[in-house]
Amino acid sequence: MAPDGQILASQTTAPNTHQSEPIPEAARAEIERLLSSGDLFRYTSDGAPVALLEQEFADLMGSRYALAVASCSAALFLSIKALDLPRGAKILIPAFTFAAVPSAVVHADCVPVLVEVGDNYRVNMADFAAKLDDAQAVLISHMRGHTSDMDAIMALCDARDIPVIEDAAHSLGTTWNGRNIGTIGKIGCFSFQSYKLVNAGEGGILITDDPELAARCVIMSGAYESNWKKHPGMQNSYMLWQNKLPLYNMRMQNLSAAVIRPQLPEIAARVAKGRAGHDRVAGHLNQSDWLAVPPCLTGEDRAPDSIQFNLSGDWTDAQALKFQSRAKSRGVTVQVFGLSDGNARAFWNWEFLGPQPDLPQTRAMLMRACDVRLPTRLTLDELDFIAHAITDAIEDVKG
Ligand SMILES: *Cc1c(COP(=O)(O)O)cnc(C)c1O
Repeated sequence: MAPDGQILASQTTAPNTHQSEPIPEAARAEIERLLSSGDLFRYTSDGAPVALLEQEFADLMGSRYALAVASCSAALFLSIKALDLPRGAKILIPAFTFAAVPSAVVHADCVPVLVEVGDNYRVNMADFAAKLDDAQAVLISHMRGHTSDMDAIMALCDARDIPVIEDAAHSLGTTWNGRNIGTIGKIGCFSFQSYKLVNAGEGGILITDDPELAARCVIMSGAYESNWKKHPGMQNSYMLWQNKLPLYNMRMQNLSAAVIRPQLPEIAARVAKGRAGHDRVAGHLNQSDWLAVPPCLTGEDRAPDSIQFNLSGDWTDAQALKFQSRAKSRGVTVQVFGLSDGNARAFWNWEFLGPQPDLPQTRAMLMRACDVRLPTRLTLDELDFIAHAITDAIEDVKG
């Protein structure tokens, strides 16, 4: 490990990892135009920014249909509703995900069944297979952009005709054997919340190739009366569903689309930079005997904007907390998922689900797995500052 100070000549203060990149200049003129005309509702004008975003995003992902909505949570909710499952249907979800995911399942009157996740942050396939026969749907959350074995998951689900929804909130730009994450299951859901690769403050989008699912999602998102006519490609399906489904009004408004559209051409560069930055920090952390960054699966090309690593070897909770606080004093926020109070990514904090069976493997992982933001705008010096602050904090505790 490089000694303290070696990299400090160029980078002496910790980077702010919650600061966003500026929104591309091109958004300004469009926002000004929208403000001047007051044309903010997606269904008022033909060729509205939301409709253009849907077309552009579908083209980018190679999907037939896209529907922009208020959040990824809304996209997940609509996707589950579109499956038309009976009330109380069981939906498998990974036990390592964000609280919004079980919340979307509950919101759709279904019951989440938590599946064990290994210390590589991916679905434990033995537990998945054991729980699958009781399930009516599967929602794979690619938590922090870590892709589970989609070949194994799709083979098991296809054999039983169980639909798969992908929560790709943090996987924009990730591929699995060359296929875009979000296009492997029946529906893929993405987020434009500020801490994701494309930042609109809030927002989400779902993609699918299935015209019936697309039509049902469009209607339920709030395409009342004949507003569905402004969505291309499936006139017959829409007519079937108009007035037959509730309108949940989860639409996106034009200002959000105006902020998102000019960021789409930047995705490829952000993915490349995020991957290189992540791998640079991972290379440094993996030199320590006390840290391990799990490798990705064969076939997976990641698009990370954060890094997760495990405290390896013998650690007490007190030592892990000391490591967290020593990193903080060096200006770098490290969260041990299971040791930060009320963390929304620790399943035992999802009290709204009621009592749950324990998931010892996921629990053990969460007690030693660490999370550090690495927004793709960081410079090499800033990445090195973070990497060294982490290994220096390890030395403080273990050295
Ligand atoms: C951010 C996130 C969500 C929720 O997205 P919103 O747009 O904030 O609703 C869901 N799942 C994962 C994995 C996320 O990272």
